[in-house]
Amino acid sequence: MSSDLAAPPFSAPQVYLIDDEPDILQILRDVVELCGLEAHCFSQADDFINEIQCFEGSNILILDLQMPKIDGIEVIRHLAKMENSPELILMSGQDSAVLSAAENLAVAHALVVRGTLEKPLSIARLRSMLEPQTAIRRTKLTGDLKSAARDVSVEELREALDLDQFVLRYQPKEEFAVTGASKYSAECLVRWQHPTQGLIYPDRFIALIERQGWMPDLTTIVFNQAIRQQRQWQQDGLQINLSINVSASDITSLILPETISRLLADNELDTTTITLEVTESELMGELTTSLDVLTRLRLKGVRLSIDDFGTGYSSLLQLFRMPFSELKIDQSFVSKMVVDMEALAIVQACILLGEQFNMRVVAEGVEDLATKELLAELGCQVVQGYFIAKPMAAKDLRPWLALQLKP
Ligand code: C2E
Ligand code: MG
Ligand code: MG
Repeated sequence: MSSDLAAPPFSAPQVYLIDDEPDILQILRDVVELCGLEAHCFSQADDFINEIQCFEGSNILILDLQMPKIDGIEVIRHLAKMENSPELILMSGQDSAVLSAAENLAVAHALVVRGTLEKPLSIARLRSMLEPQTAIRRTKLTGDLKSAARDVSVEELREALDLDQFVLRYQPKEEFAVTGASKYSAECLVRWQHPTQGLIYPDRFIALIERQGWMPDLTTIVFNQAIRQQRQWQQDGLQINLSINVSASDITSLILPETISRLLADNELDTTTITLEVTESELMGELTTSLDVLTRLRLKGVRLSIDDFGTGYSSLLQLFRMPFSELKIDQSFVSKMVVDMEALAIVQACILLGEQFNMRVVAEGVEDLATKELLAELGCQVVQGYFIAKPMAAKDLRPWLALQLKP
């Protein structure tokens, strides 16, 4: 008879092993068992995928990246879709760049990576990674599904969507070469006005919304607010292009172009008054559908922008087949370009690419004058960031613009 009293306070993790080399699998099993843990061995990733439908309790997966049929990267992609996925220890006989790329990919999918192991294996390193007190080495800091799930509940979020507890902030973008009112445009950034917790930023709820499949609801809310606000400004004599962030799931909806043009027409607004910002990594998936939707949006006159450029996984070729009119260099490069030669080289390469492909190049995350000046010198056309202005409420945008445009 099992006794609850005898149960340890924390149950030991189950350890899954996937490696196509039988000798290595045996060594791994020995080490895991030596640590007093239960090992489940698989010499083929597809057996693991077919057999394990869900995970309970705490689990660790030691995963070889190079395998003949399904490789480790495909396993990572599969785990990303599962609930309660195991913590990962990644292994490879290839150079360390492959391991760190796989680690970054896992982290980008909000998986927890305990560590990486190069082959030949260091038994001592593996043992230390299996110890219960091993700190979780890397988890995604922003947009992390796990932290989002910890913070806000699915029910609260559903209620927020049903009751429309979202507000928009507007962050100015400044164009170098232009004078007058059209020097500025603005990006709409959503916040959740939580009934008790105050203003909640997107990194705490966007990933969860995406996971629940509720992005169309949020996008509708954001579009309605942005377009209503733009109409109001236009009636008051302020013409300003607004950028709206859309996600992968929006881009795969074939009716998006019609929905947007109808909404704009109902509000007597021109399609050229909005820009859609799509994150580069999100274009990976259904390429033909995205291409269809994006092309029709462009045909209707909507401007399209690749957001967070340089951080995604799309190939350049794929990317430049898409009809983008604007490229936004990710803030992780912009914020350190003055002090970091590699970041500077990436920013320069992005500006050149933009020029070659006839795209407006925007640098986001500009936090000081030195960065702004360097960007102007390098030929970047538009800057956005705390140095220009922080995201602000709609009522503050007009006075801010008036101040900038004062002779
Ligand atoms: P993003 O579209 O790349 O937006 C830029 C983010 O950088 C914003 O964070 C902005 O507040 C912040 N930022 C701007 N200037 C600076 C700066 O100088 N320094 C630093 N450190 N940060 C700066 P925010 O508002 O928290 O939004 C985070 C992300 O959430 C956005 O990244 C976007 O991907 C997503 N998001 C925001 N609003 C929406 C929305 O309405 N729909 C969708 N689907 N995603 C949204
Ligand atoms: Mg954006
Ligand atoms: Mg961005």
